[in-house]
Amino acid sequence: MSDFIDLKGAEQSFGDTEAQREVRENDRNHVFHSWSAQGQINPLPVAKGEGARFWDYDGKEYLDFSSQLVNLNLGHQHPGLVKAIQEQAGRLATIQPSFANDVRGELAKRVVEHSFDGARSVFFTNGGADANEYAVRMARHHTGRQKVLARYRSYHGSTATAITLTGEPRRWTNGTLDSGVVHFSGPYQYRSAFYAETPEQETERALAHLEQTIQFEGPNTIAAIILETVTGTNGVLVPPPGYLPGVRALCDKYGIVMILDEVMVGFGRTGQWFAYQGFDVRPDLVTFAKGVNSGYVPLGGVVISEQIHDTFADRPFPGGLTYSGHPLACASGVATFDIFEEEGILERVRDLGERVVAPRLAQFAEKHPSVGEFRGTGLFWSLDLVVDRETREPLVPFNAAGDAAAPMNAVTGACKDAGLWPFTHFNRLQIAPPLVIAEEDLVKGLDIIDAALDVADGYY
Ligand code: PLP
Repeated sequence: MSDFIDLKGAEQSFGDTEAQREVRENDRNHVFHSWSAQGQINPLPVAKGEGARFWDYDGKEYLDFSSQLVNLNLGHQHPGLVKAIQEQAGRLATIQPSFANDVRGELAKRVVEHSFDGARSVFFTNGGADANEYAVRMARHHTGRQKVLARYRSYHGSTATAITLTGEPRRWTNGTLDSGVVHFSGPYQYRSAFYAETPEQETERALAHLEQTIQFEGPNTIAAIILETVTGTNGVLVPPPGYLPGVRALCDKYGIVMILDEVMVGFGRTGQWFAYQGFDVRPDLVTFAKGVNSGYVPLGGVVISEQIHDTFADRPFPGGLTYSGHPLACASGVATFDIFEEEGILERVRDLGERVVAPRLAQFAEKHPSVGEFRGTGLFWSLDLVVDRETREPLVPFNAAGDAAAPMNAVTGACKDAGLWPFTHFNRLQIAPPLVIAEEDLVKGLDIIDAALDVADGYY
């Protein structure tokens, strides 16, 4: 059975006072929402936030275990980020990209200094999808080839090329907007396409499959392979030992550009500046967004290797954006580097992940039959919920009334009622709190999830 579900009707209801109702009504009447049937939305009006918490207009408090869309790495209203934006706005609020600007240059320098050996420059974008879009365009011009290989279990954004690179079902209704994209299967031992018994076997078979795909497609037609370093939305899939170095070796063998999409996992989510730094691999292009400034001002970018940078030394790069390297965004990006260092963010992510989260999830797996597998790293984890551990049938989607999302809605509803905003996708309850979350809040949130898993067990 497929582990993909249709989230139609995934609506929650909330308490409603006058203030709350007014904000929601304006929104429902006039705001067109992402990924939603406009007649079915019921958004929670949010009045204010601080750190890992936010409040609705009735004063109800939520612990944010989703970091919004896994972007709020430094939490709501971090004083250092707010101050950097205010100061920059008071001095120079905007300047178009063909001018040189101090914070833009400073941020590019800091990103390059914290990147792979041979990283040379940064192209700034407005977010993650366009970063992937431009990375692919660079790889195509660099190699003179057209095809790009991407994995089925992936999300790369929703602009034309990015949604075609995306492998999960959100691409289906968009058709093929970029005809050069070919999908392949990556490693995911719990639901392995390769019938592997060990992580090493999973790696070996996934790499053999990738090499065969390259050969079937024609190595000299393939510009790039794009991978999320740790697959995010589609299950927090940590690459098994040797997989990423193996992909690198195939890229070297066939002259293919290796693009790592670090939009969700870059800037500390896994306890490294960039997640690939934990996997002994050197990419050619790295895309980032979200955590670079916690999304306070839209910002993304592509880190570019010396070789690819040099391709455009004497011929113009055919692309650009009005807001590339926006000063308000870059000022908050520079502040992000300072705050990470001052507050020891990377160390605390590794510590909290290993000492607090991993052991607690192991307990959940013992106690709750619905937890088929837990996996993750740093402050990024996923509970793969099932209705049967033997068959690994996902906790899905269909109840007797044919309501596709009912079981997962019941689980997320239990979290929300208890004051925790969860991050769920298909049958997975994912854990991605702000990296600044207090240890006691992390424990409190895990307690709420523990109780919500009783609801999941009810479907077992
Ligand atoms: N790549 C990954 C791995 C993502 O998780 C996302 C968004 O969630 C994107 C790209 C797209 O980023 P954006 O929504 O900023 O365009």
